Amino acid sequence: MTRTEFMHKLRQVFAPSDFKCLSCGAELFERTAFCAECMKDVSFNNGKTCKRCGVAIDGEEDYCGNCAFDKTYFDRAYSVFNYDGNVRKAILQMKFANLGSIAHGFAPYLAFLSVKQNLQYDLVTFAPMSAKSRKVRHYNQAQLLAAEFCDILGVQKLLTETVVKIRETPAQEKLSRSDRKTNLVGSYRIKPDVNVKGKHILLIDDVKTTGATINECAKVLKRAGAARVEALTVASRKEDFNYENEQE
Ligand SMILES: [Zn+2]
Ligand SMILES: [Zn+2]
Repeated sequence: MTRTEFMHKLRQVFAPSDFKCLSCGAELFERTAFCAECMKDVSFNNGKTCKRCGVAIDGEEDYCGNCAFDKTYFDRAYSVFNYDGNVRKAILQMKFANLGSIAHGFAPYLAFLSVKQNLQYDLVTFAPMSAKSRKVRHYNQAQLLAAEFCDILGVQKLLTETVVKIRETPAQEKLSRSDRKTNLVGSYRIKPDVNVKGKHILLIDDVKTTGATINECAKVLKRAGAARVEALTVASRKEDFNYENEQE
């Protein structure tokens, strides 16, 4: 670690005023994502969840209505929060305003959940953006989350760009649930120079609504020989989520 990096770390520990609430922007005096007021409208996804895709579910079943019938290419998915309230607000800001830096507020939660679930992986990757979207937004929020995640856990060497998005697709938020599933088919490719054969992969993204993005990425990774793909997202929609006018 260089002196500059060290001083930066020290500042993060002793100058918490660098931290702002991810929803309202209020100054925070402890390392958390939200202020006390905004925390009231944050729901952790720590109740009963689907044993495959990780969405919050009610009732007796082990799997949600989708996973009971549909095949997924990812093996398991986990999310820290439910996608509503101030978490949704913060993620929308992260995507649509130029606030890439707020990814660092969520990364500690991803790290915490990965440790709590004892996730085992030998490669960390992230959902890609198309070159065009990246040009507009200047950053890929999933990549920022993954980079922060690896930084916190000291596994920077595992961070690898594996999947690229090769074509621009209509925005998921403009589509119905069934169209969202087909919209992304064929739009991802494995990077030619990466080897994922036999690897246990952790795929990071910000939000999972239908799960179409992580599923398509997992498909590409599995076809390239990945042994296991687990996804970790900041938030996922609840099973009864209304998809109209929502982003992926
Ligand atoms: Zn707040
Ligand atoms: Zn499920």
